[in-house]
Formats: sequence, structure tokens, C-alpha cells
Amino acid sequence: MSDTSSNPFRAPWPDSISRPVVNPLQPSVVYASNDPDALDAQYEGGAKGYTYAREGHPNAEVLGKMIDRMEDVSGGVVTGSGMAAVTLALLASVSAGDHVLGADQLYGRSLRLMNEVLPRLGIATSLADPTDVAAFKAALRPETRLILIETVSNPTLRVADVDGIIALAKSRDILVAVDNTFPTPRGLRPIQHGADVVIHSVTKLMAGHSDATLGYVAAKDPALSERLLTLAVTMGLTPSPFDCWLAERGLYSFDLRYDRSTSTAARLGDALAVMPGVVRVLYPTRADHPDHNRSVSLLGGEGGHMVSFEIEGGRAAANAFVRAAEGLNFAPTLGDVATTISHPATSSHRALTSEARAALGISEGFFRISVGCEEPTALVATFETALRAAHAR
Ligand SMILES: *Cc1c(COP(=O)(O)O)cnc(C)c1O
Repeated sequence: MSDTSSNPFRAPWPDSISRPVVNPLQPSVVYASNDPDALDAQYEGGAKGYTYAREGHPNAEVLGKMIDRMEDVSGGVVTGSGMAAVTLALLASVSAGDHVLGADQLYGRSLRLMNEVLPRLGIATSLADPTDVAAFKAALRPETRLILIETVSNPTLRVADVDGIIALAKSRDILVAVDNTFPTPRGLRPIQHGADVVIHSVTKLMAGHSDATLGYVAAKDPALSERLLTLAVTMGLTPSPFDCWLAERGLYSFDLRYDRSTSTAARLGDALAVMPGVVRVLYPTRADHPDHNRSVSLLGGEGGHMVSFEIEGGRAAANAFVRAAEGLNFAPTLGDVATTISHPATSSHRALTSEARAALGISEGFFRISVGCEEPTALVATFETALRAAHAR
């Protein structure tokens, strides 16, 4: 048996009678065992121990437990990205011959999985409007095995009828997976509402600093939970220790960041709505939002950190607005500690025809804002200045 002190390549880890207060980063790919008996006991589950990082490591375990607590579930699996979590949720739940019904405004890559990848594997898919339970009911087939929805859609921030869809699915013995990235567990805990699977892109507000790409998926049923873990390890969808360690640190401030960005988002939405040159504002708790009632009943009146709005003047005004929005990153992501602006017409929704974009209400003047933790008064002033510049051309 050897440890790092007798290993010719590695200097010994220093002794200390005091303990660190922070969980260490453990990048080791492999773990050495004392002897074959010890390894055997580990594989048989009689003794706890790690073997190989793809199969599991302490940083993923710590992060998984932290998110489990936030979602009030157990056995959640941390993955190498949000898309790895979506992939895992789908592949652990369905087989060739099944049908998956998805929401029609899913995250772009999730839509690709539904439209291009699953059909190639013999899994039929179709899409329906998740704010309309009757539309979902009409789209069910005898072989429907799974429903995949997002609680709040991107970029129009429509709130799915999560309770209605879960009730419909339960009556037909169909699984429901909810991508809960936008509201986070602070806005909604889908498994507590009867969903079977909850999914997160931890990359976004949960990790919160745009420096870690991670996902999370948890299931209510322990057997499905076990299948998720086995498939993640088999397909190599598991995460890097460093990303998990960064996300753990990010989560320490999650509640503070959530409170700050959500209250600022609500304030920014109200401020934008009365600024000259703004056509409309989309924010779930505003009285003029089409799902206002559901944002109160389902999300407990939490509008979240995302605000979308449309300005007059088309692409030229949009360019001028972004150039004048000093200090704000124009970047197609969300959930950073700093505010980011995205322009769906040239990024997330650029593959759609202009007619399809128009049907969703996404014009050349449409922006999606991920509100960060800046000082709120100064942030609102930045938007005011940028809008004035956009319309003073
Ligand atoms: C970003 C995002 C994903 C994908 O997450 P990655 O970490 O980028 O792979 C999935 N669903 C939603 C709703 C997202 O916003």
C-alpha cells in the first residue's frame, strides 16, 4: 500500500492540527484502495469509498446534496452541463417505441434533442403549448411515456400550467419532467407539486458566476433515481470536480443573489414599462403579463430574475441600445452576478423564420435581460440612458 508520502512523484500533504473551514477541491481521477478485500467491499456497498472520478467524487456529492436540500428531494445527480441533465432525464425514462410530449418553447438545445435526436432513436416526439392543458391533452398518444416542460419559458417568460399538466399526466400514468432552471427552487419545487423529475442548468443562477458549466437532475422514484445515476456514469455525463467546487461556493450566496436580482428585476420591469420608446415589458408578476395569475398561484408571486422587453426602432435602435448600455454584457447567457442582455432574434431564436419569431412576439427590438446584483438605482439609470441613446439617432 502507498500514500502520497511514499510516492516518488508527489510530496506529502502537510499535517495540521487545525481543520480548513472550506471543503477542499479534490481533482483526483483515481482513488487507491488498501487491498482487493477493501475494493471488493467498496463495490459491494459494504464500505464507502470512491474509485474513479467519472463514477463519483466528493465535490459532486457535496454539490448534489446542497441542491437536493434546496429542492427538498434526495439522490439528485450532478451532471457536466444542463444539457447533460436534460439528456439523462430523457434517456433514463423512455425507450424506442415511446412518445415524448414537450413544451413548444423549450430551450433551443432541448428542442433539438426532441426534434432531431430522439426520433433517430425510434422515440416519437411532438410539442404543445404548456400554458394550455387542453392542448397537451389533445397531443397525448397511447404510447406517451414522458412530458417535458420548462416552468418559465425563454424568452417570453410564459409560466407553464405545471399543476394542470401534472394532474393530466397522473391520470394517464405518464412521467413529468420539469426543467426548473428559470424559477430555481426558490420560485418552485416541482417534485413537491407531483412532478417525477426536476432538471436544472446549474450553470445559470444557481452557480451564478458564469464560471462553471453544470446540471442537476433528480427523480421522485428511487428506482428512476438509480437509473439516472447509472446512466450518467455509463454515458460519461458526470461533472468535473473544479466546476462542482466553484458551484458549491456560488451556492453559498444563492439566496442573497436571488433576493437581490429578483427584487431589482421587478423594479426594472416597472421602470421600463413607463420609459419612452418601450413597446412592452414581459415580467411574470406584472398585472399585464398573460400568466400573471399563475405566477402568483404557482410561483408564490416570485417573478424571478429575468425581464424581457421590446423597444421601438427595429435592429438599428437595438444596436444603438446595446452600444450605449455601458457596463452591461451583451451575451447569450443568464444568471451571472452581473446583468446580461441578450437579443433572441440574432442568438437563441436566429434559426427560426421571421414569421415564426413574429408569432412568438420576438421582433428585432426584443431583448431579454438577466438581472444581476448591481445597485438597483444605478442599473435602472443605465437602461434609461441607453434607451435615450437608442431613440435619439
Ligand atoms: C441554459 C439552459 C439549459 C442548458 O444548460 P447548459 O448548462 O448550458 O447545458 C437547459 N435548460 C434551460 C432552461 C437553460 O436555460
